[in-house]
Amino acid sequence: MDNARLHAAAKAVRDAGLDALLVGPSADLRYLIGYDAHAMERLTLLVLTADGEASLVVPELEAPAARASGAAELVELVVWTDTEDPIAVVHRLLTTAGRPGAVAVSDRLYSVFTLRLQAALAGTTFHPSGPLLGPLRIIKSPAEQAALRAAGAAIDAVHAAVPTLLRPGRTEAEVGRDISELILAEHDEVAFIIVGSGPNGASPHHAISDRVLQPGDAVVIDIGGVRDGYCSDMTRNYAVGALPEGYAELHAVLAEAQEAAVRAVAPGAVPAEIDRAARELITDAGYGDRFIHRTGHGIGIEVHEDPYIVATNTTPVAAGMAFSIEPGIYLPDRFGMRIEDIVLVTEDGVERVNHGPREVLVAG
Ligand code: ZN
Ligand code: ZN
Ligand code: ZN
Repeated sequence: MDNARLHAAAKAVRDAGLDALLVGPSADLRYLIGYDAHAMERLTLLVLTADGEASLVVPELEAPAARASGAAELVELVVWTDTEDPIAVVHRLLTTAGRPGAVAVSDRLYSVFTLRLQAALAGTTFHPSGPLLGPLRIIKSPAEQAALRAAGAAIDAVHAAVPTLLRPGRTEAEVGRDISELILAEHDEVAFIIVGSGPNGASPHHAISDRVLQPGDAVVIDIGGVRDGYCSDMTRNYAVGALPEGYAELHAVLAEAQEAAVRAVAPGAVPAEIDRAARELITDAGYGDRFIHRTGHGIGIEVHEDPYIVATNTTPVAAGMAFSIEPGIYLPDRFGMRIEDIVLVTEDGVERVNHGPREVLVAG
């Protein structure tokens, strides 16, 4: 990692007319300096001034981890001990040239720190960091796009093995443990595992339970991992032995809706319209009120990040953005279904990073 991201962030601070940016442990910190800091009661804080001075305030016991991350090559480490007040350390860094008029503070900084910083810097106005860092993170560089493609191929490989795991008599938890091993064989970390069998599939963020798979169950499998810092996220639908009644027709509608939304993606396309492309077909089939979430979310170093593909988002997408297209239909007490691929906006259209078959696979 070079200084380009810190330079761009410092420029964003200047362009916004602010004096500094304060970033605690978060994806923003990983993005800026590659350090996956531990969020806890001891303060770790990147202090980036408008003129590009970057310091990382770190607790003494975390300093070795900060150095090992390589962050010390990008920023000056300012180490504090357990008998010092880290807020006073930050105050000192920020007031060398007088009290700052306005600073941005990261969206994920614990309020216990933000409130103390506000008290220590009375008269300084505090702004959210999202408007500064969001536009930087939302456009993926060629290297980031390659990482997302590799993560996509990795989760494709996991899904390819899922049919062998689904048999009557196994629990969702047992299937989930096997999937966890498969994810780790292809990724560095497991991000999440959803095995929604039968009625559990009707709850979009159901994780896993001790429910035993039954013949005739539909199973929603939505899984993701982290590979070289970038996330995968992919959903496919399976059935145990046979499809439940009424399922095949509905799944055909869903597949068409997902395809329509993917086809609606291109530079300049509006997220609200991409969402509508999927929603319209599901609504026409009579299930509009059973598609109970937005069509997609951005993805990168976080599973959910900007841009959100939702009816209220009218900011056009641009080449280099990456997000999911994942319409779903959920019938309470019966089953659910969702088809999810990650797509990249290219210079002239769209590219999927997931290629596994989208039809329902009957296993067991
Ligand atoms: Zn989700
Ligand atoms: Zn997703
Ligand atoms: Zn997902």
